[in-house]
Amino acid sequence: MKGLIMDYPLTTNTILEYGNSVYHHKKIITHLPDGIRHEYSFGDMYKRCKKLANALTQKLGITNGDMVGTFAWNHGPHVELYYGISGIGAVCHTINIRLSANQIEYIINNSEDKVIFVDATLVPLLEKIAPLLETVEYYILINAADDFITTLPNTLHYEDLIRDQSEDFEWPELNENDASGLCYTSGTTGLPKGVLYSHRSTFLHATTIMSPNAGNFSNRDTVLLIVPQFHVMAWGFPYLCLLSGSNMVLPSSNLQPEAIIKILIEEKVNKANGVPTIWLGVYHALKMNPPKEKLALEEYLVGGSALTKSLIEGFEKDFGIKGVQAWGMTETSPLGTVSRLQPLHDCLSEDAKLTIRAKQGTAFPGVELRIVTDDGNLAPTDGKTMGELQIKGAWTITSYFKTNNNENFTKDGWFKTGDVSTIDQDGYMEIKDRTKDLIKSGGEWISSVALESALMAHPKIKEAAVIAIPDEKWVEKPLASIVLMNNEDVVSEEELIDFLSREFVKYQIPKDYVYMNEVPKTSVGKFDKKEIRKLFAEGKLT
Ligand code: AMP
Repeated sequence: MKGLIMDYPLTTNTILEYGNSVYHHKKIITHLPDGIRHEYSFGDMYKRCKKLANALTQKLGITNGDMVGTFAWNHGPHVELYYGISGIGAVCHTINIRLSANQIEYIINNSEDKVIFVDATLVPLLEKIAPLLETVEYYILINAADDFITTLPNTLHYEDLIRDQSEDFEWPELNENDASGLCYTSGTTGLPKGVLYSHRSTFLHATTIMSPNAGNFSNRDTVLLIVPQFHVMAWGFPYLCLLSGSNMVLPSSNLQPEAIIKILIEEKVNKANGVPTIWLGVYHALKMNPPKEKLALEEYLVGGSALTKSLIEGFEKDFGIKGVQAWGMTETSPLGTVSRLQPLHDCLSEDAKLTIRAKQGTAFPGVELRIVTDDGNLAPTDGKTMGELQIKGAWTITSYFKTNNNENFTKDGWFKTGDVSTIDQDGYMEIKDRTKDLIKSGGEWISSVALESALMAHPKIKEAAVIAIPDEKWVEKPLASIVLMNNEDVVSEEELIDFLSREFVKYQIPKDYVYMNEVPKTSVGKFDKKEIRKLFAEGKLT
């Protein structure tokens, strides 16, 4: 029997209309380069989305299902693009500005973007590949001076595009299962692959993430969106802020630790998101130069790579700021789990609580997780048995855009994450490694993630990345690349082996160490193990 409830569309237009009707007074603040600050309200943004919708349909000829690219930092116009493009039934394709020119060319041609909205400061990156872009008809310049010169063909300025447009626009009736956004995987494991989000998945992801047991956002919050809008729709934050009525603060390219701290202070930001590398930088900058007054920042949500126990502890002890770990993938919209303590943990020691918070956490409602061992069996939820993490849920991918390669999907409908994890009896998932990063030495698994976390807890170590290198006797062995806090510091290998032996058994401890000025990072700030392996293979690591 069918339920007798309205078939109400869960679309990005529903989010925008709600944000405007209930929270039109809430703010969107952008910090542009050169200290320029821009502030407007959700209501102002709403009107500009409608102008943009008119311009897209009438001036640029964009219709339902067309691809429209964005190549931009986090700022007000980029939020308008999220809503304006998806709102007319087109697909908002956020292009990762940190990919290589070849990859950018590949994804623009693969997605068939008709128009690209590009920040003036990023134009040089597109100019290089523009002659190779087969489908782009217009480039719309954002934040460009009137006399801005470019070799890009068919350019218009964003403000000129929308200036004379009407603020009246009737959103078309959209099917909630239609595509709203497109994002390519960051390419950690090969060629970028497109993930096509639907209106429904976007809506459900945002409403779930804002709830108290998840991201915990409300109309009392001011949120700094550090995660780039070109990376998995900034984790859905531009949507959840409108639904929760949280003020949005957007840093554009101001991503240096000192710049972030300045914004946190000036805007009295109390919640934020970001990858661990960013928060590690902010932590060390705060330690070097402690703020005169306690920051308003209460909580930062971290994902993308492991948030270490030592960073959670440091932030909390030194500055009273809570780090909350989340896990996800481009393929999972992205958020799949979050690690928060529950009343059942009240009786635990502080250290045991920290251990739980350093796990990747429990699945969100609407998401299911399971671990499948090497022999194809379901792992018990004992917190010990490792296997591949598989996921399904209301915002998990069913297949990659324009491919029929289904090697990442199981026959019974789960997505294979490529992460190696455990799940404990309370449902807390812990990433031990990605499949290719797990080191198998003498037939035994070694978790490079656990070694990295432990090494980064050493007071003289800033960053540590561990890879597998070939070994005649053990087949593989770990190699640790170390970045010291200060170049003058000296840490002997004996000291490190001794330090690690408190937590690891002998075979797990790396005997090989190399020292670097900086661990190579991927476009989204993760340790680029592919690059480290390449440096090793070329004999450039000593
Ligand atoms: P991406 O699609 O580029 O966001 O990469 C997703 C991958 O990042 C996951 O499959 C994990 O390997 C890794 N990842 C994401 N969040 C975490 C986390 N909290 N801890 C450890 N690894 C993570």
